[in-house]
Amino acid sequence: MADRILVIGGAGYIGSHVQKQLIEEGYDVIVYDNLSSGDEINILEKAKFIKGDILDEKSLNEAMSQNIKAVVHLAAKKAVGESMISPDIYAKNNLTGSINILNAMVNNNVKYIVFSSSAAVYGMPEYIPMDEKHPINPINYYGYTKRAIEENMEWFNKLGKLNYTALRYFNAVGYAFDGTIRGKERNPQNLMPIIMEAATGKRDGFSIFGNDYETRDGTCIRDYIHVTDLARAHSLALKKMFEENKSYKLNLGTGIGTSVKEIVDATEKVIGKKLKYTYAPRRSGDPAVLTAKADEAQKILGWKPVYTDIEEIISSVWNLEI
Ligand code: UDP
Repeated sequence: MADRILVIGGAGYIGSHVQKQLIEEGYDVIVYDNLSSGDEINILEKAKFIKGDILDEKSLNEAMSQNIKAVVHLAAKKAVGESMISPDIYAKNNLTGSINILNAMVNNNVKYIVFSSSAAVYGMPEYIPMDEKHPINPINYYGYTKRAIEENMEWFNKLGKLNYTALRYFNAVGYAFDGTIRGKERNPQNLMPIIMEAATGKRDGFSIFGNDYETRDGTCIRDYIHVTDLARAHSLALKKMFEENKSYKLNLGTGIGTSVKEIVDATEKVIGKKLKYTYAPRRSGDPAVLTAKADEAQKILGWKPVYTDIEEIISSVWNLEI
């Protein structure tokens, strides 16, 4: 019988792509999601769906009791700005919710977890590209919650309860190339979905936050990694843990830096029209450059990003928008 994986947050943007990857590899997938930002439309027919909240311990325990081999945990509040204004929401959802997941795993003897962590655990870069040895010093509450969850997984591991892989994503972009899902979310906050809303006329225009950074064109540089590449890393991490019974913390990025202006220019090229935007002041807490050194993921998981061409990545989004 196929191993059963509980994908918590599997109706969201990255989670739905992870769900798809695991189904394609023959796993038996259960999606657990409260649909607060994700959408039922993102859940594939082959997945079983449980509508549940990670704050509901009873429901979590029930889900976890169904002969689950491993958990992929992607359920979180993820708006950096909001986390600085309403830390209570992030404390409850991200911290308490994750502890509930770890406890439910222990109660039900589930031994493996892949956790969606973030480059936000590092804080302001002390050097670029950042490897996993970079100091962990989050500068926003969201990043702190990711760090705290990593630390809890470390402790549960030390106490012999489970193995974990924390995947520290850089900037996730793109949709599945085959068009089966796009992991659409309500109220997108990130650059690419905002640009797409402007491209499709759903919003008037958008702002580029800062054009006075010390970068080649004055705008921020990020490491944009295609969601399909991210999804593949989750299944590789599961496989690795099943084989080796060890735990890992790994960066997932391409190592390639792309500026906001370059993203905008590439989008205009892909969609064949000009976008309406203005330059706005810097967004607080934004480092000028953030790029990953992801050699560890390659060494340990044999993972390497396939989709590194930004125009190709943008096309994967645009093809589904039109
Ligand atoms: N950004 C922007 N305008 C927007 C949203 C984002 O200029 O409306 C910039 C932001 O300052 C950052 C980059 O785009 O340099 C990526 O931001 P996003 O919020 O997508 O991800 P983050 O880097 O914060 O994880």
